[in-house]
Amino acid sequence: MTNLPKTYRVKSFGCQMNVYDGDRMAELLSAQGMAPALGEDADLVVLNTCHIREKAADRAYSDIGRLRREDGSRPMVALAGCVAQAEGAEAKTRSKMIDLVVGPQAYHRLPEMLAAAARGERPVDTDMPAISKFDALPARRRSGPSAFLTVQEGCDKFCTYCVVPYTRGAEISRPFADIVGEAQALANGGAREITLLGQNVNAYEGGLDKLIRAVARIDGIERIRYTTSHPADMSDALIAAHGEIGKLMPYLHLPVQSGSDRILKAMNRSHSADTYLKTLEKVRAARPDIAISGDFIVGFPGESDEDFTATLAIVDAVGYASAYSFKYSARPGTPAATMEGAVAPEVMDDRLQRLQARLAEHSLAFNRATVGKDITILIDRKGRLPGQMIGKSPWFQSVFVETRAGIGDMIDVTVAKALPNSLGATAKVKVPA
Ligand code: SF4
Repeated sequence: MTNLPKTYRVKSFGCQMNVYDGDRMAELLSAQGMAPALGEDADLVVLNTCHIREKAADRAYSDIGRLRREDGSRPMVALAGCVAQAEGAEAKTRSKMIDLVVGPQAYHRLPEMLAAAARGERPVDTDMPAISKFDALPARRRSGPSAFLTVQEGCDKFCTYCVVPYTRGAEISRPFADIVGEAQALANGGAREITLLGQNVNAYEGGLDKLIRAVARIDGIERIRYTTSHPADMSDALIAAHGEIGKLMPYLHLPVQSGSDRILKAMNRSHSADTYLKTLEKVRAARPDIAISGDFIVGFPGESDEDFTATLAIVDAVGYASAYSFKYSARPGTPAATMEGAVAPEVMDDRLQRLQARLAEHSLAFNRATVGKDITILIDRKGRLPGQMIGKSPWFQSVFVETRAGIGDMIDVTVAKALPNSLGATAKVKVPA
């Protein structure tokens, strides 16, 4: 029997949805009267894990091992997120330090699970109730200038390399009014930008465009973004919204993974390279200055040199402003994990390097094209240099500027310098001391 924890630390790995869940878990623990730990040491550590690649899962377990203190004592350990969902009770065998295991759809039950863990029962909850999690969570508290807001969870696409449909379950869309209510609460709490989240956000039932229009009507919300989308769910209404709603930022993250139709088929991506490009043509017609971001996997089983060449070709055809790229990582239980034609590690390394070099050329070219432009940025953090702040451009670039403006301010700047992953700018109006 141990005491209930008084302080907590939530550490989230992986995607924005995990970050959102981590924030909601912190709000829930605070609502129970617990306090966020000031330093690393806490009575309770919640590891909110990612299962998308082997390395990510292994990292969670090595982090657990490091929680033991010099005097041999340790905090209460809660394993949450997608590794918890995938491994369930088995995780307790893998690490004796785990006091409870809670999946991404069940963390609203943390309070009672903590009581059971304090009694030494090591509870496990990987239940997947539809919506009740959100109904049971406390109201949003004060937020930074930019906030995440989950609108949809789960995925029905079953890409053959992906664990998400198994760890997050079937697609579920939150009620429209609940989302608009939470967006209003975030605006009241200081948010000026809202990013609507979903594993497949543009599959939001009833139309993501309608949701964006409703959030755009909230006073105080100046900017709206959404992620992550699937090419097959880019509706004409959503594309039109990019041309019609000023608060919807000119930035679209649209994963493609490969440029080869043969590999896209083996991945079960339900679109071809050509339909992907045609969708982007329509998006660019609606919003010509839009920045396109993508996701890529190299080394998928069976990937040939020709397939990889097709991937480089789609990179050049799109001219990505930014992109995320990874080596294929076989995930237990996914169809691709048993596919033939494994690509040699050194070939994967070579392809990833070549792909990232090509992507870097395009993102630098995109950054260079903004030099000399007058833009508005949302300041979201301090820079390293005295008097330097960092904000986000409409195209989601980080912009460094010398200013007396504070976090949460939106200021006009002129872009002066392009760097590989950011911009340097000068403030148009001097903010008085
Ligand atoms: S669309 Fe594919 S890659 Fe994305 S979450 Fe769903 S199954 Fe995974």
